[in-house]
Amino acid sequence: MGESFKTHRITGIAVDPIHVGTGGGRLGRVDQSMVRDPVTRVPKIPGSSLAGVYRAYAAMAKNKYPDCAGQGQPDKQGKGGHCGKPECPICTVFGFARSAGGGFAGLAAFSDAQVLLFPVATREGPVWITCPAAMRLVGAEINGLNDATVYRSTDGSPLNLGWLLLPVEKYPNGQDSQSQLNGLQIPEYIRQRLAAVSDKLFSHIVNSNLEVRTSVSINPETGAAEEGALFTYEALPRSTVLLWEVISKNPTHFKVGDAAVSAVQDMNNVFNVVETAHPYLECLGVGGMGTRGMGRLRVLSSTAISQQPAAPK
Ligand SMILES: [Zn+2]
Repeated sequence: MGESFKTHRITGIAVDPIHVGTGGGRLGRVDQSMVRDPVTRVPKIPGSSLAGVYRAYAAMAKNKYPDCAGQGQPDKQGKGGHCGKPECPICTVFGFARSAGGGFAGLAAFSDAQVLLFPVATREGPVWITCPAAMRLVGAEINGLNDATVYRSTDGSPLNLGWLLLPVEKYPNGQDSQSQLNGLQIPEYIRQRLAAVSDKLFSHIVNSNLEVRTSVSINPETGAAEEGALFTYEALPRSTVLLWEVISKNPTHFKVGDAAVSAVQDMNNVFNVVETAHPYLECLGVGGMGTRGMGRLRVLSSTAISQQPAAPK
């Protein structure tokens, strides 16, 4: 039978500000707020949103667009929608909803994309902050961080992170875990400007330093701005580093109806279909604001990891 699944860890950097909204919902001064982790309150890109974007772009790459992309609902004449064939790389890897013969969950599963490194303006220029919860995503343990201190490889004079002026200390007990970021292809200019803060302070700083932009609603029929339709939305700033995981399931363990999956033979094939979307992420982006110069995400690295994956959403 062989292994049941294989996990790839993917890192990416925001080329534009990224907004993935909650679909309405006002939060404080912002009309369109981002999806947040319910516990940490740090904005994230839900795995379900990632799966939809990956599906659309992989369908473009595999000449299966638009039928096998999208939600898969046929039109009023019953045409289009997911083909649901065992030889279709999109429908087998991303699943399909066709009712005849039942649906199929898909061979790839996506975790949420979480903030690993977040850029903050300081008097020294930008510094990218992380925290114990974020570093745990790459297998690093940092303990004993004080809620009112910035930790760096060398101690120095106090540093302002946005509005907050905080003392700088070395990582406690020599817990400099920057080596855990090796192999993720994070640019050197970021790796030289890292700092860690506690989980609580990280959430506070991220939420105080999101981009808030103002835009105008466009009437789709006239192409003109709607009167009084100015709205604000928040976004992760350009050069935020995100991390997510893709779980590839073993195709030989699944059937489409009565047929074996023929589009992909093994877990590497599954991931190969997934990663055809990566060049499109950098051109077309994630989130609902692609036409406004938003959401482009450059993949920096994708690495197969052996540890147990986070539960897929
Ligand atoms: Zn298909």
